[in-house]
Amino acid sequence: MALLNRISSANIGIFFLILQANKTRYMSGKITFTMIKPDAVADGHIGAILGKIAEAGFKFKALKLTQLTEADAKKFYKVHAARPFYGELVEFMSSGPIVAAVLEKDNAVEDFRTLIGATNPADAAEGTIRKMFARSVGENAVHGSDSDENALIEAQFHFSGREIF
Ligand code: UDP
Ligand code: MG
Repeated sequence: MALLNRISSANIGIFFLILQANKTRYMSGKITFTMIKPDAVADGHIGAILGKIAEAGFKFKALKLTQLTEADAKKFYKVHAARPFYGELVEFMSSGPIVAAVLEKDNAVEDFRTLIGATNPADAAEGTIRKMFARSVGENAVHGSDSDENALIEAQFHFSGREIF
């Protein structure tokens, strides 16, 4: 009986591994991850930004209003730990609610970066989300993943499998 239990739990584990691998392969290249940052939430731009994202042809695979703890923000932005703005960035990103979302579209990562515009809104093209809604280079309204690999990591940082549709 104990042996049977061990076999079936191993099988279930393998089954879920295969499911996860298939899901990852299916999503690769088609998804990106975004946050509407605390500045844009506080300034009342959630509706307008979600509208622009939908109009640009992205489908919502996951969506929630949430808030990062300081530890969450440190972990999420750890690639920037050596940069001079890291402390400010962590403080800002954990200062209030955000909207987190997983988005689907062909060429999602690149197309979403085009839609949001340059990091500094002063350099962002006319009509981009950052040009329209950002306050400054630090408080720049939205996050967008920079690669397919990071899109998956960031989506899984914020959402459990059952929250992604
Ligand atoms: N940032 C900042 N000062 C800078 C550059 C970046 O405060 O000089 C912040 C800004 O909020 C930016 C985030 O750090 O969105 C991550 O920086 P990154 O270079 O990855 O820009 P992004 O990919 O968001 O355009
Ligand atoms: Mg980046």
